[in-house]
Amino acid sequence: SAPAVSNFIRSIIDEDLASGKHQGIVTRFPPEPNGYLHVGHAKSICLNFGLADDYQGKCNLRMDDTNPEKESDEYVQAIQEGVEWLGFKWDGQVRFASDYFDALFGYAVELIEAGKAFVDDLSAEEMRAYRGGLTEPGRESPYRSRTVEENLDLFMRMRDGEFADGSKTLRLKIDMASPNINLRDPVIYRIRRAHHHRTGDKWCIYPMYDYTHCISDAIEGITHSLCTLEFEDHRPLYDWVLDNISIGCHPRQYEFSRLELMYALTSKRKLNQLVIDGVVSGWDDPRMPTIAGMRRRGMSPAGIRLFAQRIGVSRSENVVDMSVLEGAVRDALEGEAPRVMAVVNPLKVTLSNYDDALTASRSAPFHPQHPEFGERDVPLSREIWIERDDFAEVPPPKWQRLTAGGEVRLRYSYVIRCDEVVKDEAGEVVELKCSIDHDTLGKNPEGRKVKGVIHWVGAAHAVEAEVRWYDRLFTEARPDAVRGEDGEYVDFRTFLSDHSLKTITAFVEPVVRDAAPETRYQFERVGYFVTDRHEHVAGGRPVFNRTVGLKDSWAK
Ligand code: ATP
Ligand code: MG
Ligand code: MG
Repeated sequence: SAPAVSNFIRSIIDEDLASGKHQGIVTRFPPEPNGYLHVGHAKSICLNFGLADDYQGKCNLRMDDTNPEKESDEYVQAIQEGVEWLGFKWDGQVRFASDYFDALFGYAVELIEAGKAFVDDLSAEEMRAYRGGLTEPGRESPYRSRTVEENLDLFMRMRDGEFADGSKTLRLKIDMASPNINLRDPVIYRIRRAHHHRTGDKWCIYPMYDYTHCISDAIEGITHSLCTLEFEDHRPLYDWVLDNISIGCHPRQYEFSRLELMYALTSKRKLNQLVIDGVVSGWDDPRMPTIAGMRRRGMSPAGIRLFAQRIGVSRSENVVDMSVLEGAVRDALEGEAPRVMAVVNPLKVTLSNYDDALTASRSAPFHPQHPEFGERDVPLSREIWIERDDFAEVPPPKWQRLTAGGEVRLRYSYVIRCDEVVKDEAGEVVELKCSIDHDTLGKNPEGRKVKGVIHWVGAAHAVEAEVRWYDRLFTEARPDAVRGEDGEYVDFRTFLSDHSLKTITAFVEPVVRDAAPETRYQFERVGYFVTDRHEHVAGGRPVFNRTVGLKDSWAK
C-alpha cells in the first residue's frame, strides 16, 4: 500500500516513542453498536488501525455498548464485518464496554468512598434547571451533601432495583461553577430497566459514556485515544475521572475533525431513519454511505483506504465532496477490475457480409496492464449491439465514432462501415446495416486512417443483465444542514432525489454470467460495475450495480 502521510497525531506518537514515554502504541476503534458503520467511521478505522499497523502496535475493536435500548447483536456483527472487510484485524477478541460493568461499578464505589460522587434525587428537568448555562454558573444539588454512608447505601440499592427508572442518578462532585458544563457534576450512572444485548437483565443501572470511555481505555492500556472534535470539551472530564480513581494507566485523548461527505449523511441515527422509512432497501443499499452500502455498490477496500489517506487527518473542517471518494475508488479499481464490454443503451447493428467461416472471434486480455488476469474470447456474430451514443446521423465536429457512410473499429475486432440507417415510422434510428472490412483484424486498413474504436457485444452471445444505475441520494449537498425561514433545520428527507436509482437492461459479454457475486468489472468506456452481493447468482441472469463512472461526473 501507499506510504503513510504524516499528520499531527503521527507527530505526537513519534515524540512519545522518541522520548520513551511509550514503548509501543495501542489505539482503539470504539463504535456504539446502534447502527451500521458509515464513511465517517471508515476514516476513524483507517486512522486507528492504520496507526497500529504502521507502528507495529495494536488496535482494539471495542463496542461502546452502554445504551441498551438502541443496541443489538445485528449491529455488533455488521461492525465486525465492516472492519474486517476494510482489511483490518484486531487481536483476539472483540472488546465490549459491557465487559467492564463490574469494574466500572467498583470505581464508582471508590469515588463515593472518597467523597467524590453522590446520589442525586433531582429529576432530569430539575437537573437541567440547576445546570446553569454558558454565561451563568450552575447551582449545587440539595442532595450533594449526603454522607458517604448514605451515598453507598443508596447506590447499592439503585443497583439492586429498589428505585424507579430515572428517580435517582449517581453524579460526580466536581464544580457547578466550571465554565465547562461537562464538569458541572456530571451524571455517571442512571437507572434504566432495559434488556442489554449481552448482560441481559443483570443490571438496571448503566454507566454514562464519558465515565465509561476513559476507564475502558485505561483498562485496555490504550496509549492514544483518538476521537472527533466534539469531544474536546469532554477531555477535562476524561482526565478528571482517571486522576481520581486507583487505575494505573492514563491514556491521552486527541481530537481530529469529523468527516462530512457532501450529498450523504454521516449519522447513524439519520441513516437509520432512511432504513425505517423504506427509502432505501436497507443499511447496505448501494446508495447508503455505510461501509456495507459502499461494499455493495462495488467500491473496494483499497479504494476506501485510499480515500481516507487522501482526506488526511487534521483539526480543520473536513467537508469533502463526493468526487473525492469516487476518485479514490476509481483510481483503485483502475488496476483491480478486469475489463469487459457491455452495451447499456443498445442499438442493433447487422453486419451484412458477416461470414461464419472467417475468423469470427478473437481473444482479448481482461486488462491491458495485467496479463495475469487472463484472456477471453470476444465472439462476433451477424448481429451485434453497439451503444446508441456511438452513432450520430449528423455528427458534431471531430466525431470519431460511427456515422452514416463512416467507419469505426470494433474493439478487439474488425473495422466496419455504416452502409444504411434504418428508421421506424417515428423517424427513430432502430438499426444500422454495416459491412466488415475483412482485412482489418489486428491490423490497420489499407490506405486510410480509422481513429475511432467503439465497444460492442455480439448479439448471438450477449447476456442480458439487470443493471442498477445509482446516482446521488440527495439533491442538496448538505441535506441535514439546510435551515428554513423559521431558522430551524429542514427535514433532510425533503431533499431525497427521485432519480437515485434507475434499473436498465444491458447486453454484456457472456463471460460475466459465471461471475461470483461481488465481482468487480470495468465495462469499457462506461464505468465500474459489480455483481450484486445478494441478488446476483452465478450462472443466472446477471445483476450489476453501477459503482462509479469512468470520469468525474460530479464536478460542476
Ligand atoms: P453517529 O452519530 O453516526 O452515531 P458516533 O460518533 O456517535 O456517530 P460512534 O459509534 O460513537 O458513532 O463512533 C465510533 C468512532 O468513530 C468514534 O471514535 C467517532 O469519533 C468516530 N466517528 C464517528 N463518526 C465519524 C466521522 N463522521 N468522522 C470521523 N470519525 C467518526
Ligand atoms: Mg458515540
Ligand atoms: Mg452517535
